[in-house]
Amino acid sequence: MLNSMWKAYIDGVGAGVFLIFLGARLDLWRHRPERLANLWLAAAALSALIVNFTGVLSRTTGISGHPIVGILNYIGVAGVVVSLLELVFSLAETTPPRLIRGLEFLLLPLTVFRITHNAVMIIVALLLLATLFKAVKSARKGDADARVVLWGLAVLLICLVSDTVNELGLVNVPYFLPVLGFIVFFLLATHAINCHLAREESAARTDPLTGLLNRRGFLELSRLVVSMAERSARSFSVIMIDLDHFKRVNDKFGHAMGDRVLQEISSILLRRVRNQDILARWGGEEVIILLPDTGVDGANALGEKIRSSVEELETWYGATPICVTLSVGISEYHRGEPLTDTIQRADNALYRAKSSGRNRVEYLAFTDDTTGTGDLIK
Ligand code: GH3
Ligand code: MG
Ligand code: MG
Repeated sequence: MLNSMWKAYIDGVGAGVFLIFLGARLDLWRHRPERLANLWLAAAALSALIVNFTGVLSRTTGISGHPIVGILNYIGVAGVVVSLLELVFSLAETTPPRLIRGLEFLLLPLTVFRITHNAVMIIVALLLLATLFKAVKSARKGDADARVVLWGLAVLLICLVSDTVNELGLVNVPYFLPVLGFIVFFLLATHAINCHLAREESAARTDPLTGLLNRRGFLELSRLVVSMAERSARSFSVIMIDLDHFKRVNDKFGHAMGDRVLQEISSILLRRVRNQDILARWGGEEVIILLPDTGVDGANALGEKIRSSVEELETWYGATPICVTLSVGISEYHRGEPLTDTIQRADNALYRAKSSGRNRVEYLAFTDDTTGTGDLIK
């Protein structure tokens, strides 16, 4: 009696936890359908729920022999295995090879029509092996998410194998092991998916060469500053920077050296700006900085500091020092104008700095005829 109550309690807890995972991940997937990892984790939770449910049905009602319960149980098992496999592949941003996909599709009719128990079990085992293999391969490549998933898979498989051994009557292991295995796996997989997606998000906003924000990241962050400036007396300034005669550096020392110069200048800029400033690579050798709560005087002072520190920088190409300079254009936000206009004005100021000899800082004040070009935001 106590034993069956204990089992019902474990099944109940398992079903509750699986339902939570299912709902949470389905909701995340509904908002961002391109993120398939969320869908696969939801599918795994649903399948675990089906296995759990059919297990309870066959134990409590004694209708384990009923074909519908059997088929449902098979579908649950197949669903768990296929979703785990797809989850691991989607985290590695690849799709399973054709042979594995073939096995997945073969599993479906075998499961639904319960053609042979052995065939289903062999395919399930093969797919689990493929999942493990893929997770180990990604983990060995240094993929931290795969390592976390691998731990989860290991715990899950140990729990499932112990349960199978238990059913064969070889040893006596606690009833809660499969539920525990799934919960540990779902928690670790959730952590891995969250880290993976967060990294993906930040990569979409980061320039890989310099580590600065890219244009998209800049525009997203600056939206908030603009809306705050619109609603308050606070202003902000924009600094547009372009390296002088940078083509010559590439032509003389090669593109790789040009890249190194760009990286060194970026790290100087990162050291010079404050935490709240938005620094981004705007284009090839152009950088933009948005300075919240800063008027033209502050922006001019920073522009001058940047100009002089880059002028003093020497990047060594063997025994030859490479010296570069940069030109700076500055503008201040005028209440009510779109950000594109402020940026365009900084760009015009930069153009003026270039045409008046380069290696200098120029400011362009707002005039009513200053017009922006919508194509700044690509
Ligand atoms: P100016 O003073 O008029 O700006 O001259 P410039 O040579 O810097 O300007 P131009 O626009 O003619 O050339 C920009 C150069 O910047 C050309 C391109 O090879 C280089 N560049 C752009 N992006 C990168 C990059 O990612 N790496 C390297 N190494 N060079 C780059
Ligand atoms: Mg240039
Ligand atoms: Mg340029």
